[in-house]
Amino acid sequence: MTTRRIVATLAIFALYCASLFLSAIQGQTNGSQVSSAPRAMVLHAARLLDVETGRISTPGEILVQGDLIAEVGSHVTHPHESEFIDLGDTTLLPGLIDAHVHLFLHPGAEDLQTVQESVPQRTILATIAARDDLFAGFTAERDMGTEGAGSADTAVRNAINDGLMPGPRLRISGNAIDILGGHEDAIGYNPAQHVLSNATYANNAEELVTAIRGELKEGADFIKIYETGPDKIVDGRFSTPYQYTEEELTVAVHEAARSGHRVAVHAMGEPGTLYAARAGVASIDHALQLSDETMRLMREKQIFAVPTFTIFEYFAVHPNTPAQGARDSQLLDLHAQEFKKQLAAGIPFAVGSDVGPFPHGTQAREFVLMVKFGMSPLAALQAGTLNGAKLLGWQNQIGALKPGYDADIIAVPGDPLQDISILQKVSFVMKNGVIYRK
Ligand SMILES: [Zn+2]
Repeated sequence: MTTRRIVATLAIFALYCASLFLSAIQGQTNGSQVSSAPRAMVLHAARLLDVETGRISTPGEILVQGDLIAEVGSHVTHPHESEFIDLGDTTLLPGLIDAHVHLFLHPGAEDLQTVQESVPQRTILATIAARDDLFAGFTAERDMGTEGAGSADTAVRNAINDGLMPGPRLRISGNAIDILGGHEDAIGYNPAQHVLSNATYANNAEELVTAIRGELKEGADFIKIYETGPDKIVDGRFSTPYQYTEEELTVAVHEAARSGHRVAVHAMGEPGTLYAARAGVASIDHALQLSDETMRLMREKQIFAVPTFTIFEYFAVHPNTPAQGARDSQLLDLHAQEFKKQLAAGIPFAVGSDVGPFPHGTQAREFVLMVKFGMSPLAALQAGTLNGAKLLGWQNQIGALKPGYDADIIAVPGDPLQDISILQKVSFVMKNGVIYRK
């Protein structure tokens, strides 16, 4: 056999193994099942929420045909031979969108897992994380960096898209980009061990262009850049250095835009967030402390803030050291105060939890915290559906229950406008017309 034929035979065998694996997971119980979509399905529940208007239909029904939503209302057409699925005392909602996740991280020392675990090992864990997030109702996600696993998220996204494994629709960034000695670099280790950075180095505009081209070549959908850090709190005052100048970030945004891509930044505090807003990034993630001018620009340019409260809360409650716990409690309090200013300033928000360092599938906590810190339940739901769809570049396709949209639909017990915490108890999950949890 020629080498090419051996490769082709191996590929066919791998596909055969994958199909056996899929049949196996289709048969597994664990409260969750995968089934292929029939021609037409009518979903019926006690309520249906229109996230654009906040109007609740009672009862709520959705006609799903193939992978699309065909009709939405209190009573939809029940075509002959359609499957009728009664979801009882639940509310139908669009699938949730988490705009800040790390599929390649799991609870434990964040830096050390990237040292101790191989990329293949981390990739297997990432596939399990993707499944857990989907089963929790997150039908679309933006993966904000593999933290040292290079472009391994390309394989995870593609396997999900090819139907080889369950998981959300993904926008991925590959490895994030950072400066030498910056926020994500491996600092504090024996230099002789040459511990690798969790991000790709770029130290000036030219290197940013090279790094961006490399990420896109390997399959990234967007570019993630660390713009600030490491963070400090001294005498109750927060400070964090910027990593790239406004000019450097502008070069990065233009280089990504040249081929239709966008840049998202990890950025807290000034002047880093102002540089990012002026450069025209798509989102400012964590967005702890923003000046009036930064908030004005974010409103004007519709740059999303992604607060990621859950990660701040998790580290405050599960610190590695008492000093770190105290620091993260202060950061969470400060973030909550700043969030009120940001709400008043009218900047757009998307929901992003930073899940990974805390367990995958538990991140609906982010909605609870956004409401606790001052957002209305409807606005939080809009941030986690409509706005998430815009930020991920899937507006008019997902993020709402509308005819012609992809059938990404969940159900929760009770009314989320009365009690947002029921988003943590998602009981039904459909993505692209396929039921994953019932
Ligand atoms: Zn993150």
